[in-house]
Amino acid sequence: MSESAATPVYVVIGGGQAGAEIASELRKLGFAGRVIIVGEETALPYKRPPLSKAYLAGSVSADSLYMMQQPALDKAGIEYRGGVRVEQIDREAKQLKLIDGSRLAYDKLALATGGRARELKIPGADRPNVLALRTIEDVERIRARAQAGQRAVIIGGGFIGLEVAATLVKQGLAVTVLEGLPRVLARVTVPEISAFFERVHREAGVDLRTGVQITSFEFEAHPDSAVTHIHLSDHSRIDADFIVVGIGVIPNTELAETAGLVVDNGIVVDDCTRTSDPDIVAAGDCTNHPNEFLGRRVRLESVQNAMEQGRAAARTLMGKPESYKMVPWFWSDQYELKLQMVGISTGYDQLVIRGDLASRSFAAFYLHDGALIAADTVSRPLDFMIAKKLVGLRAHVDAAQLADESVALKTLVPAA
Ligand SMILES: Cc1cc2nc3c(=O)[nH]c(=O)nc-3n(C[C@H](O)[C@H](O)[C@H](O)COP(=O)(O)OP(=O)(O)OC[C@H]3O[C@@H](n4cnc5c(N)ncnc54)[C@H](O)[C@@H]3O)c2cc1C
Repeated sequence: MSESAATPVYVVIGGGQAGAEIASELRKLGFAGRVIIVGEETALPYKRPPLSKAYLAGSVSADSLYMMQQPALDKAGIEYRGGVRVEQIDREAKQLKLIDGSRLAYDKLALATGGRARELKIPGADRPNVLALRTIEDVERIRARAQAGQRAVIIGGGFIGLEVAATLVKQGLAVTVLEGLPRVLARVTVPEISAFFERVHREAGVDLRTGVQITSFEFEAHPDSAVTHIHLSDHSRIDADFIVVGIGVIPNTELAETAGLVVDNGIVVDDCTRTSDPDIVAAGDCTNHPNEFLGRRVRLESVQNAMEQGRAAARTLMGKPESYKMVPWFWSDQYELKLQMVGISTGYDQLVIRGDLASRSFAAFYLHDGALIAADTVSRPLDFMIAKKLVGLRAHVDAAQLADESVALKTLVPAA
């Protein structure tokens, strides 16, 4: 045992959503040893979802982002070592090597290293006006350039790209979105919902282009000079004052891999977050985990997953492993619309729309062999609550009743 035989040390690497959850849950479960979070970012643990929404818009303060401020950390007895990257895990010695050269011994270790923004591999992508959006600092860089009248080009029509587009166009910028696939949100939803969001963005004034490939960036030779234009495969040339790249997330697994843990599109864990080392758990965006509801392994990038896995990791560290049962869900805010999604619609054989897509408030239900496997709702939070129940039960529901707004959704929930 490290430090003193009487005081076990549990270390969490990564102070994001999952890391903060593991640390606070350890205390809730009564852990009396030391809890240390080592985080590469200097900021105290904070929530990322507002970064592309209210925080980018400037409508909430940085204070509202923090999951734990210093007094809360002190009260919980959680030590936060920020601005320090863990360089290496020595599993034999049960020690971490930190970037400042120091070493930190652990008895149990939790990996909550999350992910980083995927980089665009194109000459000019390292220029100062080509920006990513993963951290508070990234938002500060975007905000510094986001003045009305500026031309922002967003590369990627996924959630983050579209949220940034909505926020910036509302602030009076000229916004272009470039998506390589034939439709936006193609990896997460069906053509009907993609078409709805494409229409919403175009109506708001976004120049949204799908099925376009970037052939090159135009920039001056001097390394500090900005990208001024983007050339596309259809021979068009787009003016840009700045560019935001939102083309996905790479899980931070290198530390685990170098330490010899099993990694395969994420750190491989079981349903109790255990890695291939009995003293190491992992949670959040960095994990590849079994999901009972989906019947397969998956790597998710969602707050709900980070929190539920974080709590499960704490239980396992406390010697009380408990398999977590989780139906994946996610949300996205664009303009006044709240998109909420539960389950994964891949493999559906019937789509039922409740409400009118033109009304900007509707629900889409996905059935497979008559069972509800997923639902997307737009600005229908009450329907979403019931959809979560129905999807969690894989309820067999009558499609005509689902579509009929005069039938209350809650009457379709099977009796327990
Ligand atoms: C702009 C944006 C908007 C989002 N919106 C939504 C949303 O609306 N709904 C939703 O459900 N999800 C959303 N997400 C996703 C959600 O924020 C993530 O799923 C969640 O943050 C994952 O938490 P995590 O703790 O696993 O990883 P992270 O939040 O990525 O935290 C990992 C931390 O570990 C640190 N770290 C990595 N390696 C090391 C190391 N070697 N040493 C020390 N520290 C290290 C990183 O610096 C980072 O601080 C959004 C994400 C972004 C970026």
